[in-house]
Amino acid sequence: MKHIVVIGAGQAGSSLVAKLRKDGFDGEITLIGSEPVVPYQRPPLSKAYLLGDMALERLFLRPQAFYADQNITLKLGQDVTAITPEARAVTLKSGEIIAYDQLALTTGSEPRRLPASIGGDLAGVHVVRGLADVDAMAPAVAQGARALIVGGGYIGLEAAAVAARKGVQVTLVEMSDRILQRVAAPETSDYFRALHQGHGVDIREGIGLDRLVGEDGRVRAAVLSDGSEIDVDFVVVGVGITPSTALAEAAGLRLNNGIEVDEFGRTSQDLIWAAGDCASFVHKGGRIRLESVPNAIDQSECVAANMLGGETPYVAKPWFWSDQYDVKLQIAGLNSGYTSVVTRRGEGVSVSFWYYRGDTLLAVDAMNDPRAYMIGKRLIEAGKSPDPEVIGDTSSDLKALLRP
Ligand code: FAD
Repeated sequence: MKHIVVIGAGQAGSSLVAKLRKDGFDGEITLIGSEPVVPYQRPPLSKAYLLGDMALERLFLRPQAFYADQNITLKLGQDVTAITPEARAVTLKSGEIIAYDQLALTTGSEPRRLPASIGGDLAGVHVVRGLADVDAMAPAVAQGARALIVGGGYIGLEAAAVAARKGVQVTLVEMSDRILQRVAAPETSDYFRALHQGHGVDIREGIGLDRLVGEDGRVRAAVLSDGSEIDVDFVVVGVGITPSTALAEAAGLRLNNGIEVDEFGRTSQDLIWAAGDCASFVHKGGRIRLESVPNAIDQSECVAANMLGGETPYVAKPWFWSDQYDVKLQIAGLNSGYTSVVTRRGEGVSVSFWYYRGDTLLAVDAMNDPRAYMIGKRLIEAGKSPDPEVIGDTSSDLKALLRP
């Protein structure tokens, strides 16, 4: 009987094992994860769950019983410490050795942390990656507390939104010239800056953190790069993530901004596959890595089918979302290399920004405008690029653009 082992019991790992069974694999499946909980969705960690609006059970991707029903062995709270490709085996921290016929790595990513030399190890300094991180931080997110958010990317901004809604006095520092600089156009940055400022968040751009000041091992203040000092009760660090590749690297797998996989999801080692945040894959002639739920699901399902003998190349259809206050941002496509941005005003507060490279539509950021998002996504996936003038004209019928 064949044995498929999956390392990393998160979004991609859970989807991968479910798809193996769905496609009729009747061999042994073992899913191993460091965290002591059944696979869960992370997006609510910086949104509804942190706000206290979502029960723990609703985070779970599938009920615990699913794994037993599907005859999937779950090994939770267990780290894999080594892969030995020659022996086709993995070693757990406990010393247990598990043999595999095929192996998949869905190890996700790790949040960057502040170095201890600037106070990154003080109590009250949090990252937002796992359930344990958020459970540790949640009690501090209370009326009247003072918070510093380091980093104006989506995670930092979502944490700022929740904290502000809970009555926390929030200061957010972003070292770049503007929030969301790495991922979005100035138009989107302007939109979210105004939104946060409207909720009382003190956004400071072009300013970094110099160091944190502690008292009895707990953070008390922060010194910023402009020399100013602010008192804080807790700090949220949202300065990006790095793919979890240490295990793959030690096993001799080729890395390339993540674990390198071919179009089918196979790594440089026969019988070893990878998917999700940790995998870097071929996309439109280049190589990318996506940090999103849709990618984790689609890629791992494609890899599962290929592990069972399929030969379907993975074609990413990137999309993403973020919730801040009562605004839902939906993003379709990838904007890298854009040369212009067209604004389309929707009804009420809704607006969308359309990214073009020359005449080619690359991506859409839609704020409270699901229609613009949905049509933009379909246009991008169909390779259609409407005239920017039509997009910018609020009276034009977007849906008509989808007609052949
Ligand atoms: P993960 O879900 O991170 O799972 C990887 C698992 O592998 C982890 O549980 C890890 O502990 C385990 N692991 C790693 N190494 C080992 C080892 N050696 N042994 C055993 N286990 C190991 N995406 C969106 O599309 N929209 C959003 O709004 C959004 N919001 C987010 C908000 C937050 C706070 C976070 C943290 C992420 C958010 N994301 C969002 C990103 C999305 O959650 C990730 O892209 C997705 O979880 C990736 O899935 P994955 O399975 O690759 O990795």
